[in-house]
Amino acid sequence: MESQPADRGRHIQKSFSNLKGPGHGRKDLSRVFTQVQEQKIDPEEQEEKDREIDVNVPYSLGPKISDWNEQRSTWLNKNPQMPALVDGKPRILLVTGSQPNPCDNPAGDHYLLKSIKNKIDYCRLHGIEIFYNMAHLDQEMAGYWAKLPLIRKLMLAHPEVEWIWWMDSDAMFTDMVFALPMEKYKDFNMILHGWDELVYNKKNWIGLNTGSFLLRNCQWSLDLLDAWAPMGPKGVIRLDAGKLLSKTLAGRPEFEADDQSALVYLLATKKDEWGDKVFLESSYYLHGYWVILVEKYEEMIEKNHPGLGDDRWPFVTHFVGCKPCGSYGDYPVERCLKNMERAFNFADNQVLQMYGFQHRSLGTAKVKRTRNDTAHPLELGDDLQLLHPSFNASAIDA
Ligand code: UDP
Ligand code: MN
Repeated sequence: MESQPADRGRHIQKSFSNLKGPGHGRKDLSRVFTQVQEQKIDPEEQEEKDREIDVNVPYSLGPKISDWNEQRSTWLNKNPQMPALVDGKPRILLVTGSQPNPCDNPAGDHYLLKSIKNKIDYCRLHGIEIFYNMAHLDQEMAGYWAKLPLIRKLMLAHPEVEWIWWMDSDAMFTDMVFALPMEKYKDFNMILHGWDELVYNKKNWIGLNTGSFLLRNCQWSLDLLDAWAPMGPKGVIRLDAGKLLSKTLAGRPEFEADDQSALVYLLATKKDEWGDKVFLESSYYLHGYWVILVEKYEEMIEKNHPGLGDDRWPFVTHFVGCKPCGSYGDYPVERCLKNMERAFNFADNQVLQMYGFQHRSLGTAKVKRTRNDTAHPLELGDDLQLLHPSFNASAIDA
């Protein structure tokens, strides 16, 4: 099984609390970034300090809703122009985001841009909508917990969306052809990369990954978010919950409660309540740990082709523990950035190919032509396969 870096939480916390100017040598830019950070961060930090957290008042993501399925289906009936199924396929909204402020290191912002370009490309090719969030909607749920209130808000605001697909900013699509096998999930409400044995029996904290997962827009999911959220509020609650998680879950080092461990804990301790609607997928990389994949891209290109999604051509490569936007990752930042560049170009080649270009190598942004321009551009055949809608339909059936 893949291993993951030990202290997922510690570094995020540090990178938010330690907002010094970036040490990249370009002084003017550095000053601008520092000013922007000062203007935006200081009042916010002050506000947080001023605010008293009453640990006796249980945290809530919002007003209790218990008839969402009815509310939603009434809305769908009244708005036939916004159906939850489009051409027989469930409407999916891919949700991702990053911190409100500039990265500590400007290269981090560059890779956030590459990462969102990568997602825009995949989503355009597969008819998926995108939402990018940069706001802290809920001060209590900062960092990796921010996805919970955000997902809830988006579900309620977009009844036409059948599935919300959360994807971390440090995860990239590396198979532009692979399409999610949605038919397989028709009786499930939550899809994550993971293994039943590791979550339910071993209670292993990396038995699943919350960097890329789908949640159906329904009452069950609102209830799950409510059951998942209580360890999230920062401060005493998150710290104490972290101790409980480390005591209960296999392999978990000591650090504040994180969303992934909290979900493993919820599923492992309340399998009867939640387990039957959660699909732990391991037949392809809905999330793929970068360390075991990035060295093999050249070999994959030589031996395989996109559309497979698994070890042969991973669907998603996720840079767990890299923190390219913060200052304190679990891996040297150069190693992370170099391999994020490789993952991006590996995927981008699949896009550029349709336009007759290719990166000179996986390590460079430079491109070369792969064919001459023609007076009959629509007769190119295979190179245009991804652009052609019928290809996508057959990819789903495959
Ligand atoms: N994130 C966000 N807003 C923030 C901080 C983080 O939306 O203010 C998101 C971002 O997409 C990031 C994800 O939370 O990728 C989880 O954090 P990270 O990927 O650093 O954790 P890891 O995958 O390394 O455990
Ligand atoms: Mn991540």
